[in-house]
Amino acid sequence: MHELSPMKAFIASLEKLLGRDRVLHTPAARMAYECDALTIAKHRPDVVVLPESTQEVSAVCKLAHATGVAVVPRGAGTGLSGGALAADGGVMIATARMNRILAVDVPNRRAVVQPGLVNTPLSEAVRSEGLGFAPDPSSQFACTLGGNVAENAGGPHTLKYGVTTNHVLGLTVVRSDGSIVTLGGTAEGLPGYDLVGLFVGSEGTLGVATEIVVKLVALPEAVRTMLAVFDSIAHASDAVGALIRSGIVPAALEMMDNLVIRAVEAAYGFGFPLDAAAVLIVELDGLAAGLDRQAVRASDILKASGAREVRLAKDEADRQLLWKSRKRAVGALGRYAPAHATQDGVIPPSKLPEVLAQIARIADRYRIRIANVFHAGDGNLHPIALFDDRDEDEIRRVIAAGGEILRLCASLGGSITGEHGIGIEKLAHMELLFGPDDLFIQDAIRRIWDPEGLMNPGKLLPQRACGEVARFSGATARAQLGGLR
Ligand SMILES: Cc1cc2nc3c(=O)[nH]c(=O)nc-3n(C[C@H](O)[C@H](O)[C@H](O)COP(=O)(O)OP(=O)(O)OC[C@H]3O[C@@H](n4cnc5c(N)ncnc54)[C@H](O)[C@@H]3O)c2cc1C
Repeated sequence: MHELSPMKAFIASLEKLLGRDRVLHTPAARMAYECDALTIAKHRPDVVVLPESTQEVSAVCKLAHATGVAVVPRGAGTGLSGGALAADGGVMIATARMNRILAVDVPNRRAVVQPGLVNTPLSEAVRSEGLGFAPDPSSQFACTLGGNVAENAGGPHTLKYGVTTNHVLGLTVVRSDGSIVTLGGTAEGLPGYDLVGLFVGSEGTLGVATEIVVKLVALPEAVRTMLAVFDSIAHASDAVGALIRSGIVPAALEMMDNLVIRAVEAAYGFGFPLDAAAVLIVELDGLAAGLDRQAVRASDILKASGAREVRLAKDEADRQLLWKSRKRAVGALGRYAPAHATQDGVIPPSKLPEVLAQIARIADRYRIRIANVFHAGDGNLHPIALFDDRDEDEIRRVIAAGGEILRLCASLGGSITGEHGIGIEKLAHMELLFGPDDLFIQDAIRRIWDPEGLMNPGKLLPQRACGEVARFSGATARAQLGGLR
């Protein structure tokens, strides 16, 4: 009798478990999953499954564990560091069909959601109760809560409200052997090690989150949103520092440079001045009483720092258009070049003027165009390299320039990622932040959760730290990146 290969037998078992329509293994079907938003590294999974419950995820993981197949969790694939890349194949667990809100507890401001729920619909669902989910990545209309948890996502409003880890209380997680564990709960401040905190930001390497208990925040009574226009990037950077030093805590403080301004104006027609070197979007929120006075104070500070104009959004529609322009800015950059790569570094906000000038010099030196649109208030930079992904030499220069920007951030006491994670893209840069002891402990923690190294292998921790554990090393995609470095 003809024997099936182990992968074919594995796929047949998956079909028996989930039905054929929730197991995708034709080359065409798998192609849609060959990369995330880091499009310069591609590799198709052997098979993609679409489970609908914790029990189904557990059953898939048990089968994969028994066969020695790597498991790659995936939400919407908007990640920018290659975290959801099946670097050496394996089974991709896509959470698209686990997209329900399971419970909302209005009095206690909690919700329980499945991981495939997209970010925006959660806030939309609870808005009538005067509540919202605070982490608001610019990709929030597409990215999932599971992806937000795995990356510890931030967003414009996390300056005041905190990033994802500040809004997750409990998790149901399936480990690589299929076991189901419950972390945290619905109460704050549980004793013992903070395992929810450990899982948030672990980039799919510790398990698949299948249920998430989130905190909801009360919507502010009033909001004032301003656009400050600058003729020089240095003045805009100074204004960020001046606002922060003043003690005003904006809900959001975002910067866009001229390249971005021109792209979003062409796309959305908000009325951005095309000759501005940079604009700041400053949002203040809180109790209505006193907010206008605070807005006047902020406006005065911005002008004293060199803003040539400060415009207040005239109504909610105007404010929404301003935010749409900001949040869809990266997409609007598509008119400049066939491809773009978004870097993600963190610096002390006081270093902004110096670092933005350095980034401009790096762009010149590598002969690439870099646009800047970022969370200025918390020093989270997003230099976006615009390039042609058919030009290998240009890709090489983009990767080298990105590495230099990360080294610059690290050298100033910052970080090599603020919210996009390490994924496969920044493995080589982890040693800029961590010494061998630190990486050893991180790897030891990973081994406790996943001794066989099957859960999203080749991500987050550099291979040197992982030793022999990661059987699926991610060598294919790393070679793609490494060869170009
Ligand atoms: C235009 C654009 C703007 C962006 N703006 C922001 C921003 O403002 N702030 C920000 O933080 N990020 C931003 N991002 C990055 C990205 O959207 C976030 O990292 C987001 O959290 C990823 O969610 P996702 O569902 O797409 O996850 P994916 O890309 O599918 O996966 C990301 C990682 O999470 C893991 N994962 C996914 N689901 C699970 C799960 N259920 N259990 C365990 N692991 C899981 C994957 O294995 C992978 O490692 C932006 C991206 C784009 C393209």
